[in-house]
Amino acid sequence: MSTHGDITSGLGVVEDDAVRLTSELIRIDTTNTGDPDTVVGERAAGEYVAEQLGEVGYDPTYVESGDRPGRGNVFVRLPGADPSRGALLVHGHLDVVPADASEWSVHPFSGAVQDGYVWGRGAVDMKDMLGMSLALARRFKRENIVPPRDIIFAFLADEEAGGLQGSQWLVANRPDLFEGATEAISEVGGFSVTFKDGVRSYLVETAEKGIAWLKLKVRARAGHGSMIHEDNAVTKLAAAVTRLGTHRFPIVLTDSVREFLAGVTEITGWDFPEDDLDGAIGKLGAISRIVGATLRDTANPTMLTAGYKANVIPSVAEATVDCRVLPGRQEAFERELAEILGPDVEREWVSLPPVETSFDGALVDAMTGSITAEDPGAHVLPYMLSGGTDAKAFQKLGIRCFGFAPLQLPADLDFASLFHGVDERVPVDALKFGTRVLNRFLLSS
Ligand SMILES: [Zn+2]
Repeated sequence: MSTHGDITSGLGVVEDDAVRLTSELIRIDTTNTGDPDTVVGERAAGEYVAEQLGEVGYDPTYVESGDRPGRGNVFVRLPGADPSRGALLVHGHLDVVPADASEWSVHPFSGAVQDGYVWGRGAVDMKDMLGMSLALARRFKRENIVPPRDIIFAFLADEEAGGLQGSQWLVANRPDLFEGATEAISEVGGFSVTFKDGVRSYLVETAEKGIAWLKLKVRARAGHGSMIHEDNAVTKLAAAVTRLGTHRFPIVLTDSVREFLAGVTEITGWDFPEDDLDGAIGKLGAISRIVGATLRDTANPTMLTAGYKANVIPSVAEATVDCRVLPGRQEAFERELAEILGPDVEREWVSLPPVETSFDGALVDAMTGSITAEDPGAHVLPYMLSGGTDAKAFQKLGIRCFGFAPLQLPADLDFASLFHGVDERVPVDALKFGTRVLNRFLLSS
C-alpha cells in the first residue's frame, strides 16, 4: 500500500505543513455573502491551492463554476494501487461566511498562530480540513506514496450559499471530475466530544437534514396609514411568521440519531427517555444545539421585508424562513406547513435534499481504526448534522458521503459555537492530531 515500511514516519514535518497551510488559507479572504455579485477570494485561494499542489509535482485542474467569473475550484487525482476500486473523494470548500473584524479579538483574516490556536474565519469551517488534506496530498506526491485506491482531492467554491454556484454546478456540468468516486469525506465530523471525563467520543457525520429555504409572500390592499384598513399585508404576514416560528414539529427519531443516542448511553449511562427527549438532550452540553435540532424538523424565520414609507400600507410583505427537514419527512413537513400558513401566504422554495448513509463497512472501519490508533480508548459514533454541506451535491452522483475531518479537542472547548462564530479558531494540536489520523485513514481505506 505504501512504499514506506512505516506509514507514520516523517509526519512531524507534514503536521507543521498543515498548520502553515491552514493559516495561509485563512489569510486569503474568501467571504461568501450569498450574493454572487460580491464574490471575493475564491479564485486567489484556488490559485494558492493549485500552486501548493504544483510545487510537489501535481498537475492540478482549475475550474470556475457557476454563472459568474471567480468561483475557483481545484482538483487533483492521486492514482491508487488498485485501479479497479472506486475512488475516494476528499472534498472541502474554500469559501467562508462573513466576519465583522470589530467583534473579534484578532483580525478574522490574520490566520494568527498564537496561544496554541490558529485563529480566523474558516479555522474550523473549513480551512482546517483543507490544510490537513493539502499537506497530506503534498506528502504522498513528494514521497511517492501510493494509497490503496485513487484519491480525488477537491477544493471547492460556494458551499456557504448551498453550493449552487459550486458543488451543485460541478455535479451538473462537470461530473467527469468525480469519475469513479464511490465514497467521500469532508467537514463537520470526526471531531471529539467529551461527554464523560477522560473518555473522548468522535462523531462521524452519517446524515444531514435537508435544507428548505422558504420565501413567504402576502399580497393585500395598499392604502393610507391614517385610515381604517382591514386587509394589511404586514399584519397578515407577521401573524403567519409568528405561527410558523413558534410551531414545534413532532419528534421523529431517525436511525442515525437513535444510533448516536444509544452510543452515548453505552459510554455514559445517561438515559434518553422518549417522553422527555428535549430535556435529556441538554446533558450533551454544547453539542446539544446540533443534536436537539436533529430530533425534529425546524423552521426559523430569518428575514422580513415590507413597506417603504411610514404612512403607506404596502400591498406586499415578504419573509424568509430557514427550514431544515429530516430525512424522509419532506412531504409530511410540507403538509404541516401548509396547515400552519393557510391559503393566503404564497410560498417559494429553494430545496436541497437530506443525506443519510449507514455507519458500517470498510470505510467506517478505517475511520474508527485510524482514530483509535491515535487515541486509544476513544469511541467513534455516527451522528446527524442539523446543517448542510456539499455532500448534498455529491450524493446525486451516488457517492456515499461522510463528515470526517478529525480533530482532538479540549473537553471544555465549545466547538459548535465556533462555526460561523466570533473568534473562530482551531487548536494547533488538534490540526496535528487530525493530520496523523487522516494520514492513517487515507493509507488504509
Ligand atoms: Zn463548512
